[in-house]
Amino acid sequence: SKNLHKPHIFLPHLVAAMEEVEETYIMIKPDGFQRGLVGEIISRFEKKGFKLKGLKLFQCPKELAQEHYKDLQSKPFFPKLINYITSGPVVCMAWEGIGVVASARKLIGVTNPLNAEPGTIRGDLAVQTGRNVVHGSDSPENGKREIALWFKEGELCEWTPLLGPWLTE
Ligand code: ADP
Repeated sequence: SKNLHKPHIFLPHLVAAMEEVEETYIMIKPDGFQRGLVGEIISRFEKKGFKLKGLKLFQCPKELAQEHYKDLQSKPFFPKLINYITSGPVVCMAWEGIGVVASARKLIGVTNPLNAEPGTIRGDLAVQTGRNVVHGSDSPENGKREIALWFKEGELCEWTPLLGPWLTE
């Protein structure tokens, strides 16, 4: 059809922003861990083609949970949120990739799992905001901040994926 011959709309600033290599902090929350969803959740980021740079099972102290969620400290659900995050082990991950921050948020789905699209982690695996199984940083700046907060020096790995040229050109 004629439409196929339409010139593409090219927005260089958007392309540049999308192709930026970023880091994001992804965390399987205590419910995701207790429910045996660790492999399932990690698998979705692996299959997408992102690069895992840090991974650990960790019992989060209260102070760290409060620091991580400090922007929400005035919310009525804040004490509940801190109890939830510290209620059992979490799986901490640092992932790297082109546009990984926004892309991971899409893979995770919106905050309330009942509104999250089928195909997303929350859309497929959870039913309530207070038990939404996974966290993902909301900006590249917070990605860096949260990775620095949850990982110590020496806990992150620099490595070269052999599949690199088959994932990105
Ligand atoms: P997201 O994790 O999708 O970025 P927010 O930053 O708004 O969402 O909130 C952080 C976390 O706080 C949520 O993932 C959820 O676990 C919890 N939370 C948010 N809103 C509520 C709420 N109304 N009741 C209980 N917990 C909530």
